[in-house]
Amino acid sequence: MIKPRAEINPMVAYKPGKNPETLRREKGLERIIKLASNENPLGSSNKAIAAVQAYMENGFNTYPDGASYELRKKISEKYDLPMDNILPTNGGDEAIAVIGATFINPGDEVLISRLTFPRYTDTSMLGSAKIINIDLKDFRYDLPEILNRITDKTRLIWLTNPNNPTGTMLSEEELFNFFDQVREDILIVYDEAYGEFVDDPTFPKDARHFYVKYPNVITLKTFSKIYGLAALRVGYMCADHNLIGHMQKARCPFNVNALAQVAAAAALDDEEFLKATYDNNIKEKEYLYKSYDELGIHYLRTQTNHIFLCIDGHSAPESYEFLENRGVITRAFGDKYLRISIGTHEENELLVNALTALIKGE
Ligand SMILES: *Cc1c(COP(=O)(O)O)cnc(C)c1O
Repeated sequence: MIKPRAEINPMVAYKPGKNPETLRREKGLERIIKLASNENPLGSSNKAIAAVQAYMENGFNTYPDGASYELRKKISEKYDLPMDNILPTNGGDEAIAVIGATFINPGDEVLISRLTFPRYTDTSMLGSAKIINIDLKDFRYDLPEILNRITDKTRLIWLTNPNNPTGTMLSEEELFNFFDQVREDILIVYDEAYGEFVDDPTFPKDARHFYVKYPNVITLKTFSKIYGLAALRVGYMCADHNLIGHMQKARCPFNVNALAQVAAAAALDDEEFLKATYDNNIKEKEYLYKSYDELGIHYLRTQTNHIFLCIDGHSAPESYEFLENRGVITRAFGDKYLRISIGTHEENELLVNALTALIKGE
């Protein structure tokens, strides 16, 4: 029997949100809505779809551009960033893996908050790091406590802003105050997967340029959420060019496929689609807050496209199962909490109907 590395044994394989087709097969349900993975409920940008269709005429026999030149150029022009400070990746997931492969030594201490994106832990375990878990405080990152837990061995701090799954955020002032107090030899990963959904004016304004003042900060962006391109797998990092140079060696040579490159470049131009997605999210979160208030559901106000909630008298697994039986796929966190993505108005109404049935015992 071939055994894996020792690091693999305690790990748990990532469990994605349930696939709607699987549920359809299992339960014979007609209408299924997936509010489990924070996907864009409005679909994808038509410009991105057109770009993919145009590319398809070429066929698929040649490798994609390993340097993602056109996509980097587009990002560079749009955000006024030098091309050498941009590294496109196969989704944020690959960015996280490449950071781990490039920078984590066995035994390095890495600081991860409890109740955040699970890939930070998996990547750190694969790198044989010593993981220091830090509790959230009032469901927010506890930056003073993170500072307290820094030691001589600290190598990396993983941050998401706004956070998944809680939807809570850190202000620019809090964040810069934190960056100012972290030693320069400690890497900070600043993952802004949901940044475009924020409506709080105190949110950090220009995360793509953090590396200029803080060369130890790597900013992560993704096209999976507001850009609606989750199926294609594309995101990028913004960082000091020395750090990018190191990561170039660790990433896969053709990490971003050709369709993803053209789609992402086209999506960047589709302001209308972005605005429609943003507006839907803002409007629908108010509808959901109101509905949850009426149902007595406890929830956290969100700066993302998902709401973290708990329902008195119903455990999370029980609520999850009840909703799933009615064709609504959500995500349970432990015994108590559900994270439910914000959908279209029609989807949210179906969700509220199902929650009403759960709570009123219908
Ligand atoms: C969704 C998400 C990502 C990126 O996902 P990809 O689809 O791999 O780009 C990164 N970080 C957080 C916190 C996320 O929720």
